[in-house]
Amino acid sequence: MQSVLETTPHMKNKPLIIGNWKMKLGHKASKDLASSILKAAKKANLAKSYDMVLCPSSTSTAAVAKILKESSIAVGGQDCHWEKEGAHTGDVSADMLKEAGASYVINGHSARRMEHFETSDIVRDKADAAHRAELISVICVGEPINIREKGDDEAEKFVLKQLKKSLPEKSQPSNTVIAYEPVWAIGTGRTPTSEQIAKMHGVISKYLGGEYRVLYGGSLTPSNAKKILALDGVAGGLIGGASLDADDFCQIAACAEDVGKAA
Ligand code: PEP
Repeated sequence: MQSVLETTPHMKNKPLIIGNWKMKLGHKASKDLASSILKAAKKANLAKSYDMVLCPSSTSTAAVAKILKESSIAVGGQDCHWEKEGAHTGDVSADMLKEAGASYVINGHSARRMEHFETSDIVRDKADAAHRAELISVICVGEPINIREKGDDEAEKFVLKQLKKSLPEKSQPSNTVIAYEPVWAIGTGRTPTSEQIAKMHGVISKYLGGEYRVLYGGSLTPSNAKKILALDGVAGGLIGGASLDADDFCQIAACAEDVGKAA
């Protein structure tokens, strides 16, 4: 089998849609949802002009990877430890995710930064560990509401600082994806304006030299996906709530497919 780094080019014009199932589904529910998404994506003849990744809990990584084995849908972890191995009770290493069939891993999701006090330095080391295991790291950045309320410039400064610290030195567009996720938009039904999203993506892309895929995440739904995914600099989405429903998720993917075809 080809390595995912070959099969999933970093082409920034090829949208990437990632479903983050968080700690919401058990083993059976994860397998059922993976099968439903696979079926719905096939039925709609999707997955030609975009890439799709599903991120179940680590207890279901292997089972979901088995279901998706013959498909173009990839599997990701939701977090990994920064070390290769060791006495880290309760943690999962990047190599373990890789062995279970993952090719991506989310690093620095706001839930990890807030609930597990992960700093950007820790996020950078985790992304580095992901790269060593040949996983594509999806590094999340995003401002909290108190920063956004200070104005767009403050939000952009905050995110840029977070990004600079979270990005390992050896990052490149083929092993790293950035997800801009305003903390106040995650799971709240609120989103920034189109102008705010496009501007933030412009700032991030400019810093990265324009070649990386920069996803938007935060209350993406079938009803706002068309507008958001078509914005300048938005190369796809990281989706929580709406990824738990196969039809909703595939509707969002269909919007990404339209953007991909138009590119
Ligand atoms: C997320 O968990 O990264 C996320 C964006 O969640 P939601 O789509 O539910 O806002």
